[in-house]
Amino acid sequence: MTADFAAPFLFGYKMAEICLRGEQLWLRSGTAGVALAAEGEARCYQHPEHIPPVVGCRCGFFAKRRAEALVLYARYPYSQLLEVELTGRIRTTREDLRGQYQRLLRILVLPHCVRCGAEATLLGVSDQVDPRAELFGEPALSSLCESCTSPRWWLPEEVAEELSVPVSWAVPQEALVLHGVGMQLGDH
Ligand SMILES: [Zn+2]
Ligand SMILES: [Zn+2]
Repeated sequence: MTADFAAPFLFGYKMAEICLRGEQLWLRSGTAGVALAAEGEARCYQHPEHIPPVVGCRCGFFAKRRAEALVLYARYPYSQLLEVELTGRIRTTREDLRGQYQRLLRILVLPHCVRCGAEATLLGVSDQVDPRAELFGEPALSSLCESCTSPRWWLPEEVAEELSVPVSWAVPQEALVLHGVGMQLGDH
């Protein structure tokens, strides 16, 4: 069952990674691999005449109603949760939201250091091997503490400023989603 209606806004979750290109940070959608802007209007690349989202097509911005529904997409320790707002034309199912316009409201990052488990204070390029870094040629940031800091690191406020999206430490329930279900990196 799907519904097609105009709503003032819908709140949802996505998965994303904070990636480093040169010295610049950018957000990569965890499921589609495309760059996410703080605000955007969806376009359909297969059918340029579409005003997304269109029935029977994959166009439009996707989000999940519940963060838990994203657990299968988590690529620990690189995934971050994104809170988004969808507006304009909207299509919904029980689990999924699709919208014409998307605004990123907040990035929720893992609150513990991926190396030692201590409280995280910064985000950095971990020296853990990321098989996908080779694939994309760009590393993704993960949470670190001050003792395990890497040569390249950012405070959450600095990430927020660079991406124009607020950054918060995930609460335990959200962090569980980010830990995923123990799949190997590169399974998706
Ligand atoms: Zn389309
Ligand atoms: Zn540490």
